[in-house]
Amino acid sequence: MKSLNFDVHFKDLFDSTSDLIHFVDIEGKILKTNPAWLKTLEYGIEEVLNQNIFSFISPASHQLFKTYRDLVISKSGVADIEFEFVTKSGSRVIVEGQVGCVYDQKEPVYTRGVFRNVTAKRETEETLIKHQRRLQTFIENAPSAVVIINEQQIIQEWNPKAEEIFDFSSREVVGQPMVDIIIPQQFRAAHLQGMSRFLKTGEGQLLNKTIEVTALHKSGHEFPISLNISSVKIDHEWLFIAFITDITKQKALQEEIIRQQVLLLQVKNDEEKKDQFISMASHELKTPLTSLKAFVQLLERNNSPDRALQLAGRASGYVRKLEVLIGDLLDVSKIKADKINYHFQEVNFKKFLEESIESVQLFTVTHRLEIEHCDDACCFADVLRLEQVIHNLLTNAIKYSPGANRIIVSSRVTGNELVTSVQDFGIGIAKEHLDDIFSRFYRVDNADMKFQGLGIGLFITKEIVERHSGNLWVVSEPGKGTVFNFSLPISKSD
Ligand code: ADP
Repeated sequence: MKSLNFDVHFKDLFDSTSDLIHFVDIEGKILKTNPAWLKTLEYGIEEVLNQNIFSFISPASHQLFKTYRDLVISKSGVADIEFEFVTKSGSRVIVEGQVGCVYDQKEPVYTRGVFRNVTAKRETEETLIKHQRRLQTFIENAPSAVVIINEQQIIQEWNPKAEEIFDFSSREVVGQPMVDIIIPQQFRAAHLQGMSRFLKTGEGQLLNKTIEVTALHKSGHEFPISLNISSVKIDHEWLFIAFITDITKQKALQEEIIRQQVLLLQVKNDEEKKDQFISMASHELKTPLTSLKAFVQLLERNNSPDRALQLAGRASGYVRKLEVLIGDLLDVSKIKADKINYHFQEVNFKKFLEESIESVQLFTVTHRLEIEHCDDACCFADVLRLEQVIHNLLTNAIKYSPGANRIIVSSRVTGNELVTSVQDFGIGIAKEHLDDIFSRFYRVDNADMKFQGLGIGLFITKEIVERHSGNLWVVSEPGKGTVFNFSLPISKSD
């Protein structure tokens, strides 16, 4: 192997290295520069030889470079320096490296500098910092709360709007697990499940869409938010960025609008119901009146006492019908004004039931009213009102079972109560109406059959039963029949 010729090899190193090398005398005049130095600063060798080194250094770095050079020459330091050269066309070149001093018998002769061009690296760093600052400004001034968490759910970022919405300062929550802080207890498991699914499969059902959920406030109360989560992968780790808006006010406004709309509909509905009721009530009152008028006219023309008696009997039936109708109408307004007076007394229920049924039986020829069973018991009741209950339930049972011919009544003691049931084998009531039939003016629309009525009988019946500390309920099957039951407390006078 050939021995190394240092002169040749050092020259080769000097010429081929990408580092910038210069030799400068103690006064600052350039003695020599390598090709990388000339190429980087865009000069030819003759343009730089014997020129002052400071002509090639950016004014911003003059002071720093001078201090450093003085220190090196006086042997006080050889640390790295970072400064800026200026190219011939005026661009800056950031370099980092070292300057050393060569002495002859302890006298400084010249300095040598070796530098690396770090412009691209520094500019990238500066751009990054600029972007970071911009991002920070954006996050800090965002109109929504911005919360950034990592894969372990740890809060990385919590902007001023998040502080305002949740009342936690960023110092309190950054570095803490997000789940325990802003997710209500009942949603935590689902959130963790969704998160682990995303990390396993990359599928996130809630990502990149705006959803409405509830969040937890520092004070412990829950409030509605709109939430949009995006995910980004940085350095092999997922970050989740949530944009959050407090929508308590919008929600309240929305709810108020819906409430007003419902009220409007109710008013409209009430108006329609009222119109419908007036027309039905007029019809209901007019029918017996017309019959009554006809009988009175017949009476006027008829002079046979037997026929007259018969006609008077029929007429009195219609008078009674009118009386009941008007009584019911008055009752509805009395119930509304809480003005029904009750006169309670001890009642032998068995005797009372038999008499009431007998009086209803007088007016029907189509149905047989049967008492299947009746326990002996006494109740504390208003007899006239209780009669109204039996009357209403029986006339309904007759009216709504046009194809049947019997109604079964039974009354049994259960515990401290007497439960009476009226069973028919009529059209029955569909499930969806069962809760409503006790409401004022509610009538089931039986499209195929038309039944007369005002929709107030059961409303009054329920009110009376409840004023007796009892309950009224119904069991029914469409097409098979209906059983109305009411309970009354047994009186303990004995
Ligand atoms: P009305 O009979 O005058 O319409 P009610 O208040 O007595 O008013 O009854 C309310 C509704 O309940 C009736 O319109 C009817 O649809 C239903 N209903 C009541 N009793 C019966 C019954 N025994 N069988 C079937 N439907 C009934």
